[in-house]
Amino acid sequence: MKSYQQLADRWVKGNGDHLDDLDPADPGHVLAKLRLSTREDARAAVEEARGKSAEWGATPSPKRGAILLKAGELMESVAEDISELLTYEEGKTLPESRAEVARSCALFKFYGAMAYKLGGVTLPSSDPNTRLFTVRIPLGVVAIITPWNFPASIPAWKLAPALAAGNAAVFKPATKTPLTGAKILEVLEKAGLPPGVLSLVVGRGGEVGDEIVSHKDVRAVSLTGSTAVGAHVGKVLGSKDDFTRIQLELGGKNALVVDEGADLALAADLAVRGAFGLTGQSCTATSRLIVLEKAAGGLKEKLVERLKSWKLGPGTQAGVNMGPVVDPDQYRKDLDYIESGKGEGGKLIHGGRAAPPGLLIEPTVFDGVSPGMRIFDEEVFGPVLSLTEAESFDRALELVNSVDYGHTAGIVSNDNRRVNRFIDGVQAGVIKVNKPTVGLELQAPFGGFKKSGAGTWKEMGEEALEFYSAEKTVYLGY
Ligand code: NAD
Repeated sequence: MKSYQQLADRWVKGNGDHLDDLDPADPGHVLAKLRLSTREDARAAVEEARGKSAEWGATPSPKRGAILLKAGELMESVAEDISELLTYEEGKTLPESRAEVARSCALFKFYGAMAYKLGGVTLPSSDPNTRLFTVRIPLGVVAIITPWNFPASIPAWKLAPALAAGNAAVFKPATKTPLTGAKILEVLEKAGLPPGVLSLVVGRGGEVGDEIVSHKDVRAVSLTGSTAVGAHVGKVLGSKDDFTRIQLELGGKNALVVDEGADLALAADLAVRGAFGLTGQSCTATSRLIVLEKAAGGLKEKLVERLKSWKLGPGTQAGVNMGPVVDPDQYRKDLDYIESGKGEGGKLIHGGRAAPPGLLIEPTVFDGVSPGMRIFDEEVFGPVLSLTEAESFDRALELVNSVDYGHTAGIVSNDNRRVNRFIDGVQAGVIKVNKPTVGLELQAPFGGFKKSGAGTWKEMGEEALEFYSAEKTVYLGY
């Protein structure tokens, strides 16, 4: 059986409770025995980062960029190992892990290159003897707090711009996937990142996460996670009296609208990929299908037909379409949502059961779902798709916007006018037309609306660098 004990012993060095890192495809398989960090460990990590922040911040940004470029290359050279670890730890299929790791390599390269051109802007002054320009400086110590569902790419899209901009960072991955996080740290140090510029703290959110967020030397917190945790962290930062920067990317309840006259084969493919790819454990997952009545019959038929050949199994097994959910808690939560769907009047048209061994759950589709039902309103974060028919396009748009979340929203349509009305009317940070709700490009900014994000600063793209740096405005008279 695969063991990652050496990796854990090298990078996860807490002084707190013991925790077994488990393989969700076989929860009896312990990948490594970990020792979690304590509040004191977290405090020490922030202090170490503070000690290194001035030197790293003063390192010319092209030199920082060269280290990140190298990290991207090194990660590519061990991509298969990281992908396998990711699949063992999180459960997604190997092809899904490979795509995530490839994205992480590209993120380090992108921000490595961006570091060569970090700078401010020059503006015309109304005074002929003044040069007016801005310069960008690092913030100091930043906290990077990440969820388990993209344990390589989310840390990469935060750490790469944070380090490129010259900050030291304390990185707290989710306790369900700490070893993928450790691997990123290992790659960065091999690429030449000075030790201590980045510290890994593995521990419980309410304990070490809280300690990091509250620490006076942490100048910015970037957290991706659930809306409940984000709201809590927002309150903690709001009670600090030093205006710590905050970036929150949170839960989703993304809808895909299928218009009448749409290509139903395409719509079914997009729905299946968006809802059940990554086991539905993506903040951009399609969890609601809003279908115009005239398209509903044909779409349901095609959906069910595609899912009949859907193969479940361990993510490491070739040919598997969907791996297990991440851990027993999420497994119980998903099954509880399925029960609530049945209890609240949803009609199961596919799946609906656990599929042992391991933490596998059938791809589940409920028909007849309406607002007010938990599976319509709440984020499940598992392989559960709800289908709601709409009698008109206006009603479909209203249904899309009727939840608390606003992460991504999609439409499958050939009607140019409706597509444009959708783009204008939908309350979501990312809009997809004839494309799956999942999948983001790293050069484009993204961030959720409503309870899907704080709306303060965008992630990815050039915009991410703004969050991780401060801008000084210089009026240079001569
Ligand atoms: P979570 O909110 O439980 O945890 C996220 C991180 O916050 C973890 O590292 C956790 O330990 C930490 N944390 C928990 N309590 C904390 C506290 N009091 N102080 C500081 N840190 C604390 O989320 P999760 O279960 O790991 O991930 C799933 C959630 O993440 C889903 O809601 C999903 O939609 C969301 N997500 C959002 C995006 C996005 O970009 N919007 C991307 C991926 C996942």
